[in-house]
Amino acid sequence: MKITEIFKEKEVTLSFEVFPPKTDNGYPAVEKAAAEIAALGPDFMSVTYGAGGGTSKNTASIAADLQDKYHVPVLAHLTCVSSDKDHVRKMINTYKEKGIENIMALRGDIPKEGRTHFDYNHATELIYDIKSVDPDICIGGACYPEGHIECTRQSEDIQHLKEKVEAGCDFLTTQMFFDNSTLYQFLYRIKDKGIDVPVIPGIMPITNEKQVARSVALSGSTIPQKMKIMVDRFQDNPEKLKEAGIIYACDQIIDLISNGVSHIHVYSMNKPDIAAGIMRNLGAIIK
Ligand code: FAD
Repeated sequence: MKITEIFKEKEVTLSFEVFPPKTDNGYPAVEKAAAEIAALGPDFMSVTYGAGGGTSKNTASIAADLQDKYHVPVLAHLTCVSSDKDHVRKMINTYKEKGIENIMALRGDIPKEGRTHFDYNHATELIYDIKSVDPDICIGGACYPEGHIECTRQSEDIQHLKEKVEAGCDFLTTQMFFDNSTLYQFLYRIKDKGIDVPVIPGIMPITNEKQVARSVALSGSTIPQKMKIMVDRFQDNPEKLKEAGIIYACDQIIDLISNGVSHIHVYSMNKPDIAAGIMRNLGAIIK
């Protein structure tokens, strides 16, 4: 099912994310985590594609399993910066053959060791290529409430986002953020520029101390004082910190829904217990 159709059918939706294993040995563990998260009944699940500029050979099969075995609509990610046009076209066709109707079109991070492929510079070019293979595929794009880490002026980032939406994005999912006022300001700015596709806030439950540094390094997202204090208070008790992190995320989500946001994506990171914690608190509101 297309994500745009799900949005038409349901007033409030909740989706979860899983990432594929780096090696084949890791496949069974990811498969199990994905199945457990699927059993919680999210409106859809996303499956990421590589990381740090890498590609992924397992995204398609995990996404297809979620759809075929567990009947959860899927959003399969695809990055382009480390691929040539042939490989990208093959991936789009693989997704199509597996009945995947939603693709998250991403540039991917520039690899630390430098680029080896030069067919793509930006996600917009990938969106045009997906549309050329099948104009009917539902396409998502990434957006950055605090600005993309490479872009020094947010107005330029928003101008590029507009071009990305005009290329054919049906919806946008945000980078993680920990203070909702950041999102509200961003929504106001993009609306002012005429970007009117649904924006799905991406919520990352922070459930251990290391995750804070990792999240900042990856995304450049600001950690509010309130979160720093929470992590400091519970850092010696992992169980308490996990529960506090889930509640922090739920608090963010309740505030978003109360303020008129309809669709929420949770970076559940292959952790069924965290997805279950979110559902335990919010299931009655989402269903
Ligand atoms: P783009 O939209 O191409 O933007 C990248 C930068 O280029 C921005 O600074 C933008 O302003 C600038 N730009 C865009 N167009 C132009 C132009 N025409 N001229 C000049 N500058 C331009 N990474 C993975 O490897 N796998 C994943 O599965 C994955 N999933 C993600 C999901 C979400 C929701 C988010 C927010 C990020 C995800 N990422 C993933 C990370 C993402 O690949 C990186 O953030 C990457 O650096 C940018 O990807 P993008 O698609 O946003 O790029």
